[in-house]
Amino acid sequence: MDNFDVKVFESSEGNVWKYVFTSDDAVMEAVLYRYEDFYKRTVICCSTMSGCPVGCKFCGTGNKFVRSVSDNEIVGQIDYILKDKGIEDVSYCGERVQFMFMSMGEPLLNWWNVDRAIRELNWKYPSAELLISTIAPDEPEAFNKMIQTSIDIPKVGLQFSIHKSTDRERNKLIPYENKFTLREIRDLGSVWYTMTKRHPYLNYCIDGTNNSLEDAERLMNLFSPAIFNFTFSVVCSANESMKDAGFKNIDVIREFEYAFMKAGYNTRIFDPAGQDDIGGGCGQLWYVQKWMKEHGEKVTK
Ligand code: SF4
Repeated sequence: MDNFDVKVFESSEGNVWKYVFTSDDAVMEAVLYRYEDFYKRTVICCSTMSGCPVGCKFCGTGNKFVRSVSDNEIVGQIDYILKDKGIEDVSYCGERVQFMFMSMGEPLLNWWNVDRAIRELNWKYPSAELLISTIAPDEPEAFNKMIQTSIDIPKVGLQFSIHKSTDRERNKLIPYENKFTLREIRDLGSVWYTMTKRHPYLNYCIDGTNNSLEDAERLMNLFSPAIFNFTFSVVCSANESMKDAGFKNIDVIREFEYAFMKAGYNTRIFDPAGQDDIGGGCGQLWYVQKWMKEHGEKVTK
């Protein structure tokens, strides 16, 4: 990471740090979460692209793409953070360590670099869980390779970001055209489960318009609890000047979650700390936005 300047922002809560890596031609963000202490649970979300061409409406990248990130740059974000905190051994003696490919970028659109990074991270930090989070772009070759990597490395997990219960609504929220439908995601997730014997997650950000009974019924009809687990998440504000624009009504999220729990689903709620002061949540790429404003000529979309 010699080519990169690194800035670290600490949340006032004291358990979340955002690392911003900038060079002449790219910006990356990674977020470190500490739960109780680093040896209890450590999570690092890292970038797989600089910018992102997917253009999710809730995301601070604002449909701007700079370039894909190399395998060394993905591994470099994790190495840097662990070294900075003096916890390189956390992957050997920590109770739970997770590296998530979900800060910025769509991993399946940069699969060849992500694949090499996953294999190297697994070699360097063998007990770390490696979670791929994807909107499911229609890239069959990348998916086939990703399934093979998931068979090779039992620490690999898979999460599909769906966020809506119909393709019509999902297409509005995630306007990237070349992506799989919800039914195709169901089929892909089922294949992944059959091949790996592990349960894929469905990430569902609740925004107050997608949590009706009908939404729950549609999702339950499509995704079997025998195969799929659900993550219900808050919606974070993509823009620093609109900090209250997100949806964080935990009671509403819990109520929706409860319907799934009653129906036999394995569920969890994701409400990341550090959202309000350093933009620690999904899509909160505040420092990326600043860099893009200052480096407009590097942005290709
Ligand atoms: S949420 Fe993820 S996939 Fe969607 S635009 Fe942002 S970085 Fe890309």
